[in-house]
Amino acid sequence: MVAYNPLPRPEAFMAIAALFAKRSKDPVTQVGAVLVDKDEYVAATGYNGFPAKLSDDHFSWLKTGEHRHDKKYPYVKHAELNVLANVTRTYDGGTLYVTVMPCHDCAREIVQLQQKIRCVKFISVYENGKDSNVTANDMFNSAGIPITTLEARVKNVSVDFDLLDVESREIAPRVSLTGKRLDYLPWEETFMGAAMIMAQCSKNPVYQQGAVLVGPKNKTLGFGYNGIPKRISAKLKAENKTFDWSNAKLREEYEIKGANNCMLNSSRVPNSTLYTTHFPDIAATHKLLETDVKKVIFGHAPDKNSSDIIAAKRMMDHAEIKYQQFRAATNKIDIDLATRDVTFPGLRFKSE
Ligand SMILES: [Zn+2]
Repeated sequence: MVAYNPLPRPEAFMAIAALFAKRSKDPVTQVGAVLVDKDEYVAATGYNGFPAKLSDDHFSWLKTGEHRHDKKYPYVKHAELNVLANVTRTYDGGTLYVTVMPCHDCAREIVQLQQKIRCVKFISVYENGKDSNVTANDMFNSAGIPITTLEARVKNVSVDFDLLDVESREIAPRVSLTGKRLDYLPWEETFMGAAMIMAQCSKNPVYQQGAVLVGPKNKTLGFGYNGIPKRISAKLKAENKTFDWSNAKLREEYEIKGANNCMLNSSRVPNSTLYTTHFPDIAATHKLLETDVKKVIFGHAPDKNSSDIIAAKRMMDHAEIKYQQFRAATNKIDIDLATRDVTFPGLRFKSE
């Protein structure tokens, strides 16, 4: 039997940041960010793009143009600032994961926030040795916010939609009027991909379920994967004990499924959509009814003969919660978490 190694959470957060970067319409630079609170609950996700009220097809995405106002620069908002705009829970004492080191503009705002970000982690630098990097680094250092590279223990994370065994989906042809990038990742793949990355954090060697709850305007409200309750795992850890994941009876008694954990971890907002790798179980369905979720997008096909699935569907039908199976527009996404190009003179990374 191949040894089972769960994905560490920092790697999962950076992989999700990298996945969100693929949403960017910027043809040159794609950056993604994930903000987590001090207990490692996700507070927000974001990527570089125009502010919410601006159309992607109205302002230029190009670096060229006669005047600065004809180019993309005044209109694009960096991933770090978008992640802060998308916050759905308090994040004081949390960590910002961003694929590319923040520039001085973003550093200035991060340092000024009322809620304190405890540290910033990144994997690459946009332009090595640029003044902006040095200034940003100095600002973080003087504010006492450690900024470091992630140094991922797991360098490659894949999101393999083929594992879900779902039908494929065609994306309608995309057109660019303003130079925007056309091969950006659709929302559906971004959210199901993030659910699949969360699933990889599960310590259960035989079953991994991940989920993401998404609110209006595509803001992520919470993430989860199957595991034993956090306070029990913390107590075991404090006593230097480990949960016996090989014991099926213990798993059955202690484990909370991913979709349920996701909703337990989430801010509650009406009209939200749950993306889950597996169909919700009874406990998760009860939460769906409480949290005013309107739609469930699930990965693996549920067992039609399972009494729990039949009951869960009956409850959802009765409450008019729609459910549909995910269809993938792409097969597999490989994410590289290796640190890239980050050594240059003048940059002092303060270690934690
Ligand atoms: Zn920036």
